[in-house]
Amino acid sequence: MNSCPTPPGWVVNRPAPAYHLTTMISPESLQIVLYPTPVLREQAQPIEQVTDEVRAIVDRMFELMHEAPGVGLAAPQVGLPWRLFVANPTGEPEDDRVFINPVLRDPTREMDEMEEGCLSLPHIKGIIRRPIGMTIDALDRDGQPFTITSREFDARVWQHEFDHLDGILILDRMPPIDRMANKKLVKELESARA
Ligand SMILES: [Zn+2]
Repeated sequence: MNSCPTPPGWVVNRPAPAYHLTTMISPESLQIVLYPTPVLREQAQPIEQVTDEVRAIVDRMFELMHEAPGVGLAAPQVGLPWRLFVANPTGEPEDDRVFINPVLRDPTREMDEMEEGCLSLPHIKGIIRRPIGMTIDALDRDGQPFTITSREFDARVWQHEFDHLDGILILDRMPPIDRMANKKLVKELESARA
């Protein structure tokens, strides 16, 4: 109970202004960031709403992925700690697909090994063991949910990009022998940023 009227011009318990990450970002300014940029080690946050700003960033990410060229690019790789990635395992324009707030599930017990690289780790490659197949649930660029199951290369790309959303890099997954082989390149990247 408050018997004392609020003087004109006073605001009581004014809520903190809503903080919108996107209002500060111009998509054209986004570039691929390299290890050891700290955002690559962060836990990315879900996207609350798929807005035009999010779509503009997705378009820029496709552009950067194709320019590189690469088969996938996650938002932390352009400096945004958001749970979203773009992928195109074939390079055909109709295979561009965005995965917003993705969830991976039902990995196959069957695993395989394949050499992987990463646009944030130039020239670094390692053999990575992953489940052959996966199901992914995500939102599309209109914010509509979809589900895909794959035992093809797609499933590997999803797993690599999904790792980025949890701050995991191929450096963490490659066997010690590959980590040794890449030691010099990793040091060079670390000192380039230091
Ligand atoms: Zn990567």
